[in-house]
Amino acid sequence: MSADPRSLYQEVILDHNRKPRNHGVLAHPSHHAEGLNPLCGDHIQVAFDLVGDTINAIAFQGESCAICKASASMMTMAVKGKRKDEAQALAHEFIDMATGRLDPKDSQHIGRLAVFSGISELPMRVKCAILPWHTLQAAFNAVATTSTEADEDPMHTPLGDA
Ligand code: ZN
Repeated sequence: MSADPRSLYQEVILDHNRKPRNHGVLAHPSHHAEGLNPLCGDHIQVAFDLVGDTINAIAFQGESCAICKASASMMTMAVKGKRKDEAQALAHEFIDMATGRLDPKDSQHIGRLAVFSGISELPMRVKCAILPWHTLQAAFNAVATTSTEADEDPMHTPLGDA
């Protein structure tokens, strides 16, 4: 309806909260992890099935705020059918964009995820938006649980007994 990026953002958040995509449980996922954002109370699980090198199926569930839920829903759409390296590159770009280090115009992969670019101006919400992507990375790295408060960059410093 409107070209205003802020109202597009609102629309996308609302839409994905009303109808979260790939929401639920996978029967026998090859990879899964749990993500925590203590600042907001977001607590999600991300599970996927890697067949060969490709994410064949992916699902998320949990208790989270609207931003986290919309981000998780859009993430599952974005990485489903992608190769591991593509999904991980996208996770890096999303996190860089959400933290203000990447202009979405400079990315060829961000696509519709660019609606989250304004989040970098809302420091309290940045972790809500990137939690699903941190959790995806944790699952790839066989880290059972990741927390936005545990480390600046959990994808490079696996936690727990992994
Ligand atoms: Zn949140």
